[in-house]
Amino acid sequence: MTIENNLINIRESLEGKEVGIIAVSKTRTIQEMEKAYSQGIRDFGENKVQDFITKYDEFHKDVKWHFIGHLQKNKVKYIVGKVFLIHSLDSIKLLEELEKKYAKENSFVDALIQINISKDIKKWGIFIEQVEEFIKECEKCKHVRIKGLMTVISKGNEKHCRDQFLLMKNLFEDLGKREFKNVNMKYLSMGMSGDYAYAVENGSNLIRIGEGIFGKRDYSK
Ligand SMILES: *Cc1c(COP(=O)(O)O)cnc(C)c1O
Repeated sequence: MTIENNLINIRESLEGKEVGIIAVSKTRTIQEMEKAYSQGIRDFGENKVQDFITKYDEFHKDVKWHFIGHLQKNKVKYIVGKVFLIHSLDSIKLLEELEKKYAKENSFVDALIQINISKDIKKWGIFIEQVEEFIKECEKCKHVRIKGLMTVISKGNEKHCRDQFLLMKNLFEDLGKREFKNVNMKYLSMGMSGDYAYAVENGSNLIRIGEGIFGKRDYSK
C-alpha cells in the first residue's frame, strides 16, 4: 500500500466525521512526509525534540506541528514558538517550565493534558484521580492554554480498547460541562493506527496515525 492509498482509506473510514488526522512522522524521511503533504496533510506529529526541530527547519512552513512525546523540562527552550499543540503535558513541573519559557517570550502555547487512563507504569500521563488538582495548577497559568485531553492506551483486545476510550470520553465530557479559567475541552486526542476506529466511536476528534499512513516503522536505521 502506498502512502496515498493509505490516506484515501483512512479518510474514507472517517467520512462525515469531524476528526483531524495527525500524520505521525517520527523516524520518517522528509521524502516520505512530502507524500502525505501532497495529499493535503498539514498536521504532523513528532515525539523527539531533536528530530522535530530538524524537520521544522527543513519542511514546509505551513505545517502545524504536534509534539506528542514525553517532553523533558530542559528541552522546552528548543520548541518555544514552533509547536501548534503539545499533546504530552504530563506533569506540573513541565507545566511550570512551559509557562515560564513562554512568558519570557511573551508568547502562548496550546497543550493537552496527557492522561494515563490505563494506569500503565510504562506510560506517561497523570491518573484520572489527579486531574482536579492538575487543572487547578493550569488555571494559574496565562501562557499555557489547556485545550483538551490526550491518551495513549495500553494494548489489548477490542473490548479493552473501547473501555479505555469510553473512560476518556466520560472524563472529557464531564470536564467540558464545567467552567475553568484557561482550560477548555476542545480536543480529545486519542486513537492510533490499530485502534483509531474505537477511539472515534468514543468521541476522539484528533487521531495520531503513524504506521497506518507510512507503513511499518524501521528503528534500525
Ligand atoms: C508513535 C505514536 C503514535 C502513532 O502510532 P502508530 O501505531 O504508528 O499509528 C501515536 N501517538 C504517539 C504518542 C506516538 O508516540
